[in-house]
Amino acid sequence: MREPAPTSRRALLRALGLLTLTGTARPLWATTRFARDPFTLGVASGYPLPDGMVLWTRLAPDPLAPAGGMPPVNVPVRWEVARDPGFRAINAAGTVYATPDFAHAVHVEPYGLEPAREYWYRFHAGDATSPVGRTRTAPAADALPARLRIGVGCCQHYAHGFYTAYRQISADALDLFLHLGDYIYEANWGSGQVRSQGRTEPVTLADYRRHYALYRSDPDLQAAHASCPWLVVWDDHEVENDYAGARSENDDEPAWFLHRRAAAYRAYYEHMPLPRTMVPFGPHLRLHTRLDLGRLATLHMLDDRQYRSPQPCPRPGRAGSTFIGDDCRARLDPAATLLGERQERWLAAGLRGSTARWNLLGQQTLMAQAAIPGETGRVFYSDGWDGYPAARRRLLDLFAEGVCANPVVLGGDVHAFWVTDLKPDFDDPHAPVVASEFVTTSITSYPPPEPRIQAARHANPHVHFATGAHRGYLRLTLTEAQLLAELRSVSTVRDREAACTTIARYIVEDGVAGPRIA
Ligand code: FE
Ligand code: CA
Repeated sequence: MREPAPTSRRALLRALGLLTLTGTARPLWATTRFARDPFTLGVASGYPLPDGMVLWTRLAPDPLAPAGGMPPVNVPVRWEVARDPGFRAINAAGTVYATPDFAHAVHVEPYGLEPAREYWYRFHAGDATSPVGRTRTAPAADALPARLRIGVGCCQHYAHGFYTAYRQISADALDLFLHLGDYIYEANWGSGQVRSQGRTEPVTLADYRRHYALYRSDPDLQAAHASCPWLVVWDDHEVENDYAGARSENDDEPAWFLHRRAAAYRAYYEHMPLPRTMVPFGPHLRLHTRLDLGRLATLHMLDDRQYRSPQPCPRPGRAGSTFIGDDCRARLDPAATLLGERQERWLAAGLRGSTARWNLLGQQTLMAQAAIPGETGRVFYSDGWDGYPAARRRLLDLFAEGVCANPVVLGGDVHAFWVTDLKPDFDDPHAPVVASEFVTTSITSYPPPEPRIQAARHANPHVHFATGAHRGYLRLTLTEAQLLAELRSVSTVRDREAACTTIARYIVEDGVAGPRIA
């Protein structure tokens, strides 16, 4: 849709019926009055530091309309951070502009706050005030917190279910939540859906903005964002199923696909509480990062999409993933990479330099080998680490070397819970266990066939637990002595208020690689 020519900004604003101007000499934005609440997408925080974090909101009085129903003008937004939810004492405040080029999203990075403290924040635009969010600063660099509680989730197809799990995550009032990808799904699939996300795949920036606005309009997702700070990494569906670097699933012209990727990455930035170091530049956005939680834990957040080699042995005439056997020699290519060479080096250096008690790797997918027995030999899913075993071995060899204390790999993507021992050589029963792995199931997205998961579980002795029968999330509690992982399951995603139970509990003891039943 073409935008009307702004013959006069006042005329345009009146025509849109969104802003009322009083007085002619004042700057346009100074007297903004919204005809409708502009805070329909809620608030969020992320990337906590010992003295601050990122605070986010987006002005969108009509979230699914072009530009969220905002006119193409800059709007000042005042932000406030307080020690109490009633905002009796404001600890930090300021004003930033919400601008049309970033869809009137606001990313604020207050500093000078105290470590390991709970804070509340809100925004004002014109005469409107946002909902209040709760957040926390990270522990001081030299502090050893007694306990940290971290939630982990992924894969939240909007049409596949309500965000029942997020209602529970909000109630947990966590220190931190990690989202491991598939925050949106570009495509629709499956039957028996609880709601609609439309049939068209987003391609342009406007499309992706609308898609995020739809997902973010969900009240339970908004509440989870407002309940604690988040760290996020994307997987494929934030752009397109199974993409690998510049190569799309349909093997589109890479230059065309990179335009699409640029639109998707920009909309991702606009809707997540990302720091300014992650402002996208065309089709590039440096998402991988490291974050310390005092001396107790270091989080290594990884991006396994932007820099990866294409999946080996694709189906004829296509790109993307498939099931491949041992006859696919390209699978073993030592040059293949899931993280890209630079990120691999960055990760190795970060692991070597870490002095934390726990080293959590926040990444997208299942790391342990999950060979599925077939009639003509075993098969592997080529989109995960099983498609890139040499790259996996490079990482697991680092753990075997003892580069850091207590590596624990966290993953998602496969729409099932998996608890595994990570070993440099999964085919060698005598290979040492060098790290522990917990893969969270989907928040809503439909699982793969359960018999396939069970076949893989039984054929892979390093797998402790695997099932796709549950929707839910993972809840971690870290202390000096142990990491407790609780597998949380909602009874249904067809009811927002459905009950949530813990279906399994595993612990990892300090100094002992490999999970065991608690
Ligand atoms: Fe997914
Ligand atoms: Ca995925």
